[in-house]
Formats: sequence, structure tokens, C-alpha cells
Amino acid sequence: MVEPVACFVPPHVLDQLSGAADADLSDAARATLRTTAHLRAERSERKAGTGITRTGAAREVFDCRHAETPDNGVLIRGEGQPPVEDATVNRAYDALGVVRDFYREVLHRDSIDDSGRGLRAYVHFANRYNNAVWDGQQIKIGDGDGKVMRDLTYGLDVLGHELTHAMTAATANFEFRSQSGALDESVADVFGSLVRQWALRQTVDEADWLLGGSIFTPGIGLDAMRSMKAPGTAYDNKLVGKDPQPAHMKDYRALPETQQGDFGGVHINSGIPNRAFYLAATALGGHAWERAGRIWYEAVQVSTPRTRFADFAATTATTAARLYGPASTEHDAVAGAWEQVGVTGIVPA
Ligand SMILES: [Zn+2]
Repeated sequence: MVEPVACFVPPHVLDQLSGAADADLSDAARATLRTTAHLRAERSERKAGTGITRTGAAREVFDCRHAETPDNGVLIRGEGQPPVEDATVNRAYDALGVVRDFYREVLHRDSIDDSGRGLRAYVHFANRYNNAVWDGQQIKIGDGDGKVMRDLTYGLDVLGHELTHAMTAATANFEFRSQSGALDESVADVFGSLVRQWALRQTVDEADWLLGGSIFTPGIGLDAMRSMKAPGTAYDNKLVGKDPQPAHMKDYRALPETQQGDFGGVHINSGIPNRAFYLAATALGGHAWERAGRIWYEAVQVSTPRTRFADFAATTATTAARLYGPASTEHDAVAGAWEQVGVTGIVPA
């Protein structure tokens, strides 16, 4: 099986852009899909765990100079070094630091693997690459096509999302297809959003619950890639189409487990668990990372590659009961949230 590479921008958005009348847009989108397919082939050839450095969670930002082979990337800024001229490098460096601090201070996790793994970002990856990907070893970040999408280092939530894929790979290791894959995507969105909420010290009411709001070019009329509050409403635009995310199990999309089918709709059906998290967090109020985030994080630690929506719902409910008590507000908020999105079968606490 070809190993999926965890991307932020889903294939259906790039497919839509591939058909754009503007050749700059269609060329960039096609090249992005092609390059991502190469990354997948590379990943499936590589042995797991190779090339991992454990260096006290030190950050390293490399410049790919638009090459698709990061081996040729040049280290521009390492941990503790002062800002450089390239703003993209500095943004990536700062974002890696925020994500690392979030995991350390909020979740008491020592880097993405809980063993101080170094954090590497490769910026200016490929040409006009419309994505940010976690390839199993590092983050590769494109500059965007410059018309619809801009430099993806603008998205703190995007980098939080991508690095969370490394956390889930080191824990639940969800299979990246259908329901387990949609959980992987959803957990990445949850912690991507929480990283940004935490950095801005936002309450659940202040947060916009949008993902990828800052990677679209200003003035293009696109607010976000996904909405956790109202999945299916993030965008509706002739260039990128309409947000296909369901917000409830009754609208679950059964899709083929191919790149074209988004591996069973992993970036599509993630709308359902995303909304469950939003509902649980808003029912509890305050800062989402304190209770809802902690419950989700602990539930990921005891999940498995084949965990499906109902399993994860049950795990979050039992985790809430374990942490806060079976008759707690937290347990009821979590159980109620899953019920509202049509994921039933939660065992009583
Ligand atoms: Zn992802």
C-alpha cells in the first residue's frame, strides 16, 4: 500500500483549481498534486523511524530553494539563532516554537514524540506548491500559487495541524483512510486550532474555529479551509468550489480509498468529529485547551490504528469520566456533543 502523506490542503480543492481557466492556477494545482504523489512514493519506500534526530526539541529551518529534494535544502536558522532576512524562515521558526511550547506547557509533552525530537521545517518547497505536508520526518511548506494561496507559513494553525500528525503517528497511529483517517485529520485540526487559540489566549467564544484562514491570498474572498463550528460552510467560491464537509453522521460521505477519493474522505468526514469537539468545548466554556483539549489528547493516547468514530466517542467519554468523574459536567458535555453529531453507541461512564 502507498503510504499517505498528511497534507493540509485536501485533494478536492486542488482538483477544482486544476480546472481553473487561469493557467497559472491550474498549472500550480496540477504540479502540487504531482509533487505530493512523489512524496507518497518516497515515503512508502523509506523505512519508518529513519533520520529522526533527538536534540532537545531543537528547531531547524531549511530553505529548499524550490527543489523537491529536501536533501539539497540549506539550513538557514537553527535553535537559538537570531532572525534572518527571509521572513518565511522566521515565521516557520516562530510557529514551530509556539507548537512546541503548547505541547510542553499545556499537554506536558516533550516535543511531538514526547522524547524531545527535533523539529524540522523545509520552506520554499517545490515551485508554487499549494500545501504543507508532514511526510513522516519533517514538514515541507510551499509558497502557494500566489493568487489563491500564499506562503503557507502564515498559518500557525496549519503548522500546528501538521506537527500534530507526528504526535498521532507516535501514539494512536490511526490508519490514514476512512473513519480512522478522518479522526487523524480531525485531531490535527483540533490541536492546530488549539495552538492558535492558546497563542492568542482566546476563550471558546472569542475563537473563530476556522482552519487555514491565513493561507488564502487577501482579497480572494476565501475565509478558511475548514470550519469546526459549521463544517460545510468554510468556502463557496467558483475557484475552489464548495466546502464538502458534513457536520452530522447522516451526511457521512462513503468515498473510495484513493487519492482522488481523499482516502475515503479523510479531509471531508473529519467535519463530524471536528464539530463534536467544538460542541464539547463550547458547552464547557472558558479555554478549550484546558478541559476539552486535555480529554481529546488523553483519548488519542489510548486509541489504536483502527479506531472509528464511535470508538473514539466512547473513549473521550470514558476519559472525561476518569479525569473529572462519571457524573461530571465534562463527561456530559462530551457525551452530548457526540450525540448531537449523530455518533451514538457511547457506553455509559
Ligand atoms: Zn492533515
